[in-house]
Amino acid sequence: MMRLLKGKTVVNHEIPELKAQVSRLRADDVEPTLAVIMAGKDPASELYLKAQKKMAVRIGIRQQNYFLPSNASQESFLSLIRELNQDSKIHAILVELPLPAHLDENLVTQTISADKDVDGMTDVNIGRLWRGTSVIAPATAAGIMTLLHAYRIQISGHFVVIVGRSQIVGRPLSALMLRENATVVIAHSHTHDLKDLTRQADILITDIGIPKLITSDMVKKESVIVDVGINRARGRLCGDVDFERVAPLVHAITPVPGGVGPVTVISLMQQVIDLARRQYGR
Ligand code: NDP
Repeated sequence: MMRLLKGKTVVNHEIPELKAQVSRLRADDVEPTLAVIMAGKDPASELYLKAQKKMAVRIGIRQQNYFLPSNASQESFLSLIRELNQDSKIHAILVELPLPAHLDENLVTQTISADKDVDGMTDVNIGRLWRGTSVIAPATAAGIMTLLHAYRIQISGHFVVIVGRSQIVGRPLSALMLRENATVVIAHSHTHDLKDLTRQADILITDIGIPKLITSDMVKKESVIVDVGINRARGRLCGDVDFERVAPLVHAITPVPGGVGPVTVISLMQQVIDLARRQYGR
């Protein structure tokens, strides 16, 4: 029978554990604190910020938001990050992307101290992720692993195809999968015969941004499908996978919305706790 991989169920299961971790830190006078910087207005970032704030309150993490105007200078942005890097009461820093076009995204993210880089965007943390010496990864990639673990989906030895090579999903996720002994292939818009690859996948993960690109003839029977895409088609939210036709064929699949989205936020919070713990040598 097909299993629906519901993010919310995982979140509700994880919250007590995260709360307990925060309580232990607070008992030692450590108040895990996340600083979030946002420049200008972006509807998706505003929604993400709201979800973060709500979750932080539930778990007991302090979240401090910094709003900069859309015309904020690069220097003012960088000096805020440097200030937060030095502030011992801040354990984790997140910059909401995308940034206004005049700001250099790479320079901004690389200015975050690697020890406070909660979204694993610095070159140092990307290196650590590939080396296998760090637990910090971009929240969506980390969230997908949390979801698969919670539903006890076997990863080791399985053939995993990730469609999409973004910095926040495809690339870091391939490192996390490799670490757990999957055989991993990343496909993208230049891949020849995508269908031939996806039909072989024991676990298929899509981060494409094209509604229902993955059709029922492109999946392996009894496989596991993780749909990261959040798209709008005819006024309705949908993923990259044609859910109605694919779901009856597979062992497990994430819904959109309600699949990967909720676990992204819980994984971010787990990483705030991990960074706070590390900064106090715990
Ligand atoms: P990007 O544009 O960064 O990445 C899309 C990827 O899809 C690229 O690697 C691109 O290839 C590949 N691609 C595009 N067309 C095809 C095709 N026809 N065949 C195979 N590969 C293709 O997008 P994002 O990662 O930012 O977003 C993708 C989707 O995921 C969106 O719907 C977004 O809303 C959603 N998303 C959801 C998140 C969540 O938490 N649930 C978080 C982040 C994104 P190439 O590299 O060659 O261009």
